[in-house]
Amino acid sequence: MTEQGRSISYLRLSVTDRCNLRCIYCMPQEGIRILPQRDILTYDELVEIIATVAGPLGLKGIRITGGEPLVRGGILDLVRRLSAMGVIEDLSLTTNALLLTKMAGPLREAGLRRVNISLDTLRPDRYRRICRGGSLERVMAGIDAAVEAGLAPVKINQVVIPGVNDDEVEQMARLTVDRELHVRFIEFMPIGNSDLQRRRKYISSASLRSKLQESFGLCSADGPRGLGPARYYRIPGAKGNIGFISPLSRHFCSSCNRIRLTADGWIRTCLLSDRVGVDVKTPFRAGERGDVLVDIFREAIRRKPASHDLAPKGNGGNFIRTMCQIGG
Ligand code: SAM
Ligand code: SF4
Repeated sequence: MTEQGRSISYLRLSVTDRCNLRCIYCMPQEGIRILPQRDILTYDELVEIIATVAGPLGLKGIRITGGEPLVRGGILDLVRRLSAMGVIEDLSLTTNALLLTKMAGPLREAGLRRVNISLDTLRPDRYRRICRGGSLERVMAGIDAAVEAGLAPVKINQVVIPGVNDDEVEQMARLTVDRELHVRFIEFMPIGNSDLQRRRKYISSASLRSKLQESFGLCSADGPRGLGPARYYRIPGAKGNIGFISPLSRHFCSSCNRIRLTADGWIRTCLLSDRVGVDVKTPFRAGERGDVLVDIFREAIRRKPASHDLAPKGNGGNFIRTMCQIGG
């Protein structure tokens, strides 16, 4: 579906608000108030809703996310069912990779095409500080498993936080040299921990790029397969690309092709606008089907804001939901 010149073809599907980590930029230490089970869409409900709307809306890509999607039981079955629909060309998943070592192969067999892996540091002690748990070793093993399973392109996302992990961007960029890994640097958004953002601010993609330009002499490159907003470069001779995602300094609202469905059944058409959600779960549970559901999505898309209003200076965020409740 096209709205305000933007063709909406990509759905981010959050399957849970639970997570096995508590990353400092995403959640408070004590975690978030977890949704009661009855409020979470079941896989049957999800599959029926998507099967109804994917064709009429022209959805081409689905990215499964969370919370941490691999902690929800039965995820392989969901992937299998979404893949079997035959309309979604690009089925992908975003994960912290802690559970990926065992699951990469089965996910690929179930029909998943590719993964994005969150990794903010290459130092074990820093990893535990940023993620408040987990294990860097397990993430690295998860990356290997994803490559081996052919979940390509494997993209690695680093949220760059001044004074926390910005001194590692060169090491992160070097991951692209010998293997076909694509590293993307994401500007730190004031969602989830706006206090940290107020204190640390964020580093713009432009200044990161000039830092990497100085170190490596980047050349511009075509992006790997994907439907997202990153701009890509390459270290000369490297196998993978380097991307920059700039939601704050250079927002991509005018070309934003995505909508989100939260685990509790809200259609959210803008990551950064809390107040434009549309509830699809309640009408679905009341028995609405077919065109009525499609119209609910169409109406939500019509309300998609032309642009988010987050000031480029990046502070002042005051969001009702954190990233793990939206799906990133
Ligand atoms: N648990 C999975 C993971 O971490 O990959 C999927 C969900 S997570 C909410 C999705 C993405 O949002 C991750 O890449 C994470 O780094 C990013 N994210 C979370 N909070 C963020 C923030 N305040 N600013 C920028 N990116 C953020
Ligand atoms: Fe969990 Fe992902 Fe949020 Fe980290 S970024 S707390 S892994 S949902």
